[in-house]
Parts: sequence; C-alpha cells; structure tokens
Amino acid sequence: MAPTARPSTSQSIAVIGAGVAGCALVAQLRRLGVQAPISLWETGRGPGGRASTRFSRLDGGFRLDHGAPLLNLSGAPDPQLLAPLLEGGWLEPWAGRAARLEGEAQLRLDLADAYGLGGLWVGKGGMNQLGKGLLQLAGPEVEQHFGSFVRHLQRPRGGPWRLLGVDRELLVEADWLVLSSTLLAHPRSQLLFGWPEAPLKTAAASLGDLQLDHALTTIAGIRVEARSNLLLVIPEGWAHAWLDLPFGLLHCDGPAQQRWGIRRVSIQPLADGRCGVVVHSSDVFAADHLDVYGSHSAVATMLQLPPDGGREETVISALTSALVQMLAPWLGDAAGWQSRLETLGASERQLMRWAAAFPVAPGLPTELMFCRQSRVGFCGDYLAGVGFGRIEGAWRRGEELAALLVNQLQRH
Ligand SMILES: Cc1cc2nc3c(=O)[nH]c(=O)nc-3n(C[C@H](O)[C@H](O)[C@H](O)COP(=O)(O)OP(=O)(O)OC[C@H]3O[C@@H](n4cnc5c(N)ncnc54)[C@H](O)[C@@H]3O)c2cc1C
Repeated sequence: MAPTARPSTSQSIAVIGAGVAGCALVAQLRRLGVQAPISLWETGRGPGGRASTRFSRLDGGFRLDHGAPLLNLSGAPDPQLLAPLLEGGWLEPWAGRAARLEGEAQLRLDLADAYGLGGLWVGKGGMNQLGKGLLQLAGPEVEQHFGSFVRHLQRPRGGPWRLLGVDRELLVEADWLVLSSTLLAHPRSQLLFGWPEAPLKTAAASLGDLQLDHALTTIAGIRVEARSNLLLVIPEGWAHAWLDLPFGLLHCDGPAQQRWGIRRVSIQPLADGRCGVVVHSSDVFAADHLDVYGSHSAVATMLQLPPDGGREETVISALTSALVQMLAPWLGDAAGWQSRLETLGASERQLMRWAAAFPVAPGLPTELMFCRQSRVGFCGDYLAGVGFGRIEGAWRRGEELAALLVNQLQRH
C-alpha cells in the first residue's frame, strides 16, 4: 500500500549489491513512492548475486543456474513484490521433482529439504530473471552501476556517505548507505583481499554510533559455509539419461553428504537438447578445498588470481567421480560416465567455488538493520528472520528495510 505522506525527495540512497535483497529493496522503495535519487552498485555484470545465471559468450545455448536453482516461500503473507513479478511474467512455479538420498543409496522421492518447503518458484528463463524483474519494477530512475566494485566508505563529519572505487575514485555521495552484502563489514574481506580492516568498520570508527558498532560486532561473528560447485553441460546425445532420472533436484541427507561429499544435484534442461548438471558440494568438502576457487569464478576474475596449479582439475575429477558413483543405481555404468564426462571441454566442465555460499544462523538481528544515527541500513539473507540464509530472507529483508527507510524519509 502506498504511504500517506510523500517521502522526502532530497535524501539520496546508495545501495551496495544487486543480489535479490538489493534489487527487492530498490523495487520496494520505488513502489512505496520514494522519488529520491537511488543508486545501485554491483561488482558483477548483472543482477542476482548468488541467485543468478551463468551464460557463455561463445556458446549461445549455455545457461546454468550456478547458485540457487529455485526459491521457496515458506512464510506468510507472500512478499509484496511477488504479485507484480508474477504479473510481469518473471517467475513461474517450479515444475521439477525433488528427491532425497539417504545414506549411500536409499532414494526417497518427493521429500523436500529446507529449500523445498512452501511455494516453489523459478525465474522464467533462469534464476537471474528474479533480479531482473525486480529492477524492471524499480524503473529506470534507479541508477544501476554494474561492474563497479565499492572498495572504500567514508562519512566526513556532518557530510554524506562517500562510496569510493579501488583507486579511491569517488563513485557517489549519498545521504543513506545500504549494505546488502556483509563483504564490506565482515573481517573475511581482510583475508580475501588482504585489506587492513573491513571498510565499514574503518568508517564507523569516527561516527560514534553505538548501534552501528553493535551491528558490526555481530556481523563479524557471522560464520559462512562455502560450496564447491561442479558445473557440467551434457551433450544432447547423452542428455536423455540425465533428464530421465526420477528427480530434477536431489538433496543428500547427512550420511549421504558424508559418504559422497555432495549436498545437492540440480539437473537443468537446456533449450537446445543438452542439459546442465550443477553439483553442490557438502560444506565439509568445500572447507577442505577452500584454496581451489575455480578459474571461471567471479573472485578469480575480479582479483586476477593465477591458475591454481592443477588443483582445480583434481577437485573437478573428485566431484565427477563421486557424482557418477552416487548416481550409478539410476544412471548406470559409473566408469563409463566418468570417462565420458572427462572428454568434456573446459567450458562444459567447470568448478565454481562460492566462498560465502550460506550464512550460519542466527545472523544479524533485525533490530540492528537500520542505524538511524549513522544513516546505514543492512539487508540480505544474513539478517535473522523468516527465510534466513535463503532467497526468501534476502527478499523479505529488502522489503522490510524499504519500509523503515520510507518511514524515516517521511519525517523530513
Ligand atoms: C550454491 C548455492 C545454492 C543455493 N540454493 C538455494 C536454494 O535452493 N534456495 C534458496 O532460497 N537459496 C539458495 N541459496 C542461497 C541464496 O542464493 C541466497 O540466500 C540469496 O541469493 C542471497 O541474496 P542476497 O541479496 O542477500 O546476497 P547476494 O546474492 O550475495 O548479493 C549481494 C551482492 O552484492 C555484491 N557486492 C558485494 N560487495 C560488493 C561491493 N563492495 N561492491 C559492489 N558489489 C558488491 C555481490 O557481487 C552480490 O551480487 C543458494 C546459494 C548458493 C551459493
């Protein structure tokens, strides 16, 4: 419902991150009538973050949902942006079949895990359609900056927030700052990039905002789980064997994960008759191979990391071998599949490591999502609440933060 008083038009908002949370936030701000300048800053080439779709410049038919393969809405009521997204044709019901693997080889059909409860949805044409649809709802007035990495944050006394790039160039000044990712607030950025301190912590030192300090301490304590994902594109001639499996999404219980090092397998038909297979490792497997990031991963490109000396191929082979052995009761001939899959080219058999795939509960309490004094907001799946660690949480926290911001802007 549109607010009664019109929010101020003079207070600008800069949002870092165009994952589901950042996109839902800007869409909801506009839906609630905010006319203020809004800018969205994203290091990736497009929206979606961990709920995005990988394409290939060289292979037009290549399309893999390499992070989240679907989204589930388990809470009520539905997020407010669901209806307009459905009307716009951006989402459709997930029509696949789920199954659970228990122990080594016990298959239980139609059993869901935490990602399969409630209403199940996918982007129509790939998971990145969710982020795209949200940005379409936000409209062209929201300035979108893709391929822009925010490296430094400053807030001079009494002045606006300043977002700076890697060479300390000024990207934008804004009255309100929103972080839809923990990257600039969490000490893991020190390890990942060799930075002396998380940028928001540096900026907060001179602000004297106890609520922001509390939020930063809590964020610093949030642990994350990694995933090493194997991405396969199976040629048309072999695809039917995979598409004929009795499930489109297989999730493994604890003993099965321990046995195979695999958490989930998502089978994704491609329009040209091929099929994508995305194998999500268990968190233990990923933790054991954290140094192997995959030469196609975003972090490798962003940081121009050197090839990891054959280790990537070892991890790809280990996951391939576990996959074909695990699926042998339904796919048959593990050794034959292993050698067939080994003939795939480098772009058809890739490793994608998500260093921070899932935050570990309890996350940041929602009382700390909005730090009025320092004019900082947080949204994303790392905030506690319904949907924590899932798309649903990212989406709902984006909408909730929009309501808090609108309320604040109406006072001006
Ligand atoms: C392998 C995998 C499988 C999953 N499966 C499911 C599932 O089945 N169902 C489900 O609901 N969820 C699933 N999830 C979780 C789901 O993807 C996330 O909960 C959700 O996408 C989080 O959205 P977000 O907007 O909070 O964060 P993100 O998607 O991480 O978005 C944050 C964005 O901020 C950008 N960014 C960060 N720092 C900067 C900076 N300094 N400058 C510019 N840009 C920056 C990042 O590039 C990113 O795009 C899965 C995740 C993974 C990795």
